[in-house]
Amino acid sequence: MLAADATQHRPYGGNSELRKCVRHGTSHTKSSHLPPTSSTRNPLRVKSHPMWEWCMSLAMMRPMRQPSTFVCGLFFCLLFFLYLSLPSPSQGPCECNDGGALNSVTGYPSGQKSRMYPTDKHKMALLIPFRDRFEELLEFAPHIHNFLSSQRKNHHIYVINQVDNLRFNRASLLNVGFLESGVDCDYIAMHDVDLLPLNPALIYEFPSDGPYHVAAPHLHPRYHYPTFIGGVLLIKRDHFRKVDGLSNKYWGWGLEDDEFYARLKEAHLQVSRPGNLTSGKQNTFRHIHDRRVRRRDMIKCHNQQEVTRHRDRDTGLSTLSYHVQSRKELTIQDAPLTILNVVLECDHAVTPWCDCTENIGNTPRDPKNPARTQDVIVPRLNRKKHLSQDG
Ligand code: UDP
Ligand code: MN
Repeated sequence: MLAADATQHRPYGGNSELRKCVRHGTSHTKSSHLPPTSSTRNPLRVKSHPMWEWCMSLAMMRPMRQPSTFVCGLFFCLLFFLYLSLPSPSQGPCECNDGGALNSVTGYPSGQKSRMYPTDKHKMALLIPFRDRFEELLEFAPHIHNFLSSQRKNHHIYVINQVDNLRFNRASLLNVGFLESGVDCDYIAMHDVDLLPLNPALIYEFPSDGPYHVAAPHLHPRYHYPTFIGGVLLIKRDHFRKVDGLSNKYWGWGLEDDEFYARLKEAHLQVSRPGNLTSGKQNTFRHIHDRRVRRRDMIKCHNQQEVTRHRDRDTGLSTLSYHVQSRKELTIQDAPLTILNVVLECDHAVTPWCDCTENIGNTPRDPKNPARTQDVIVPRLNRKKHLSQDG
């Protein structure tokens, strides 16, 4: 009954030709062929503009001549223009999502190209020194991507995969990552693939004043000595360059991070760390590392032991020798990443221990040449206090 009344009072309710015309978006209203209406008599009537007419017709999906309809149309038009002028979440410096379902962890839209909605003007290159740790990477990449997205940290993951036949060289791979990551990244995270941050209070902030050691000794599941800076370290590009990156002499496991600590100290770069966390060594990180399966390469050959226990003033970012064999972009679950397949080059005259296959065992020290006591970078460890059995 009400609907019928409304139809009767609608000026052109019965004009099916006009209605069809409006639905199809053509702007002519054929008003010259139509009888005068209440709206033409209304003193408030604004002289009809084709744009308004179109707008109102579109909003109401029918022809309009009454003042109430006009006001209604105007209101919808204003709303529409207001909506258009709102900033879109996909605007900004990063590649953002292409729509789709929401990620269950971050609550942000997921999809092939999804990154995050950064509010941060900084961008972090997450550098993962890597070889033969595929299972760990499958867990690490989505975890860290979600973790950083929750903090709205603008980031990109680079997996620096060593593909040559030399011994693993974590430090040189980090140097490669630094040089190959985008210059749009103004800080880097030197990040182990097997260390997953669990406590959301670990903030991967731009380290403006000096390096920030996220995997602090009081939080790392295994290493607890005061000068430890391994696992996860954030440093801004300028500072990394200032110390000439890391030494390239560390083939095999260990000491490259301690040598880097000596560089930072000499450059008067103060390392800061998280404080006041409610979590500790057991529950701040998860260390996915079974030492029987992922064996640490502790072999020493030639004069490696003697050389690598000292500060290196000869090698670093500026002396690095390598080439990138290939570069692959891929996504693990929602985490986009770049894999760099890297061939490191070794100067066998300088670091013959880059390959110990034919010469296992340390060269005995010449008794005429006593051990150098200056520039030693090896930390003094109390095994009970500074080392846990984890991993
Ligand atoms: N790593 C790797 N392949 C190796 C050795 C090391 O990918 O064969 C990388 C990986 O990112 C790992 C990091 O180097 O997390 C540190 O090595 P590892 O876990 O053996 O040292 P830890 O800190 O547990 O003593
Ligand atoms: Mn480990």
